[in-house]
Amino acid sequence: APHPAREACYVVVGGGQAGAIAVATLREAGFAGRIVLVGDEPHLPYERPPLSKEVLVTPATAKTTLFDASFYADRHIECRFGVAATGLDAQARVLTLADGERIAFDKLLLATGARARAYPLLDALGDGVLSLRSLDDALALRERLLPGKRLLVIGGGVIGLEVAASARTLGAEVTVIERCLRLMGRAAPLHLAQSLLELHAAHGVHFEFGAELASASKADDGEITLTGVDGRVFHGDLVVYGIGVELNVELAREAGLQLDDGILVDEYGMSSAPGIYAAGDVARQWQPASGRYVRQETWSNAQHQATSVARAMVDGTPCEPDLPWYWTDQYGHNLQVAGAVEAEQWLTRGESTGRYTQFGVSGGRIVGAITFDNGREMRPAKQLIAAAVPLGDAEALLDIKQDLRKLATSRIK
Ligand code: FAD
Ligand code: NDP
Repeated sequence: APHPAREACYVVVGGGQAGAIAVATLREAGFAGRIVLVGDEPHLPYERPPLSKEVLVTPATAKTTLFDASFYADRHIECRFGVAATGLDAQARVLTLADGERIAFDKLLLATGARARAYPLLDALGDGVLSLRSLDDALALRERLLPGKRLLVIGGGVIGLEVAASARTLGAEVTVIERCLRLMGRAAPLHLAQSLLELHAAHGVHFEFGAELASASKADDGEITLTGVDGRVFHGDLVVYGIGVELNVELAREAGLQLDDGILVDEYGMSSAPGIYAAGDVARQWQPASGRYVRQETWSNAQHQATSVARAMVDGTPCEPDLPWYWTDQYGHNLQVAGAVEAEQWLTRGESTGRYTQFGVSGGRIVGAITFDNGREMRPAKQLIAAAVPLGDAEALLDIKQDLRKLATSRIK
């Protein structure tokens, strides 16, 4: 006899920002069947941005959890936290978990994100070497960040700089070791990297550029010694490294999905396997307007893409691309970057006031924006970028007596 039809089941793998937002959206968009959220971390899904900022500096008031347990229970979202998904059969549409559970699904979303890229040379030292991706990593780091400790930060990217700022605020001695000749090579234009360098130097951070490590050792008293390929020697009590991420694509690879710097998905968020979707850090999505696949490693992308792909899973609406945008908080300053990181020219609005907005201009159009302690101008700046507005009257744009919101509205019409 045929099996009685089982209830439709959507599974989300990965209990991070994208996973949690996706299950919430599936219900909101009207999916009434079974929803299962699988996450290998033992915590309720949480946001990572505070991990390198508030969780280190002001832990008592830091908030990370996205939704409390009742949120999932009220919406009949079944949670499997602290258990990894270990097998994915795209043809049979069955997901296997580490505890042996097998879940037959109709649609599945991979929101497996990324992990800190490992540095085996440093990991071999054991205690005293940390990377930062998870809440547990942040709690372990917080315990060790004490006044007077000598911290060696490897990698001058966002993690490295945020940890350096937090550590200085807590009174540690900080040296940032970067193999490149500049900071923030992936996510910021050169002039912004230079401003960040000056900000950190003013707060007493020491920098070593062009330093690729050759060896690492630890003495009996715990002192760590790192040697660069050019013979430079660094001593410290603690090492934190942030050298980029590795994507969690093992399940996707096993399932035979098409991969190329992420899981390739179409404008609905669907992978090369029908019924299997991806969102967040791990997804590289086709954007019809630009004719490119784009992958982003930001909170905003996890939020937006999870929402739009979950909607697409329920009602088939294609996703609208999200303008690249991230922020960083260092020494009490707030910096935001939107749109293109590289531009032919950068124009500054309001530098003399200490807070400012910069516009990146290429081909006569506004393509990028940076705000420094001036977040209130980010929304109109994003609107100008999204509309690919011609630069036009630059003087008016840079005149702080003119309200940028009004200016943006008038130019976009
Ligand atoms: P993740 O957050 O990586 O979540 C994926 C989850 O899936 C993880 O819990 C992982 O353990 C789990 N998982 C993976 N494989 C499996 C499996 N097989 N089975 C079960 N579970 C699995 N962005 C900003 O825009 N601004 C910021 O200020 C900012 N600060 C940051 C600070 C830190 C310290 C870090 C680490 C990141 C920061 N980011 C920031 C980046 C942002 O947090 C990420 O872009 C975002 O977390 C991506 O969300 P995600 O859900 O796609 O992936
Ligand atoms: P990034 O890619 O931003 O930066 C990594 C840095 O490490 C680069 O400057 C890179 O320089 C350097 N590097 C790489 N390999 C080595 C090496 N062997 N020795 C020395 N330096 C090296 O990654 P992060 O680790 O800083 O961040 C990880 C993730 O967390 C990212 O997804 C990021 O977006 C996210 N995050 C975001 C934040 C925010 O948006 N505010 C804050 C914190 C994290 P090179 O040019 O030489 O490769």
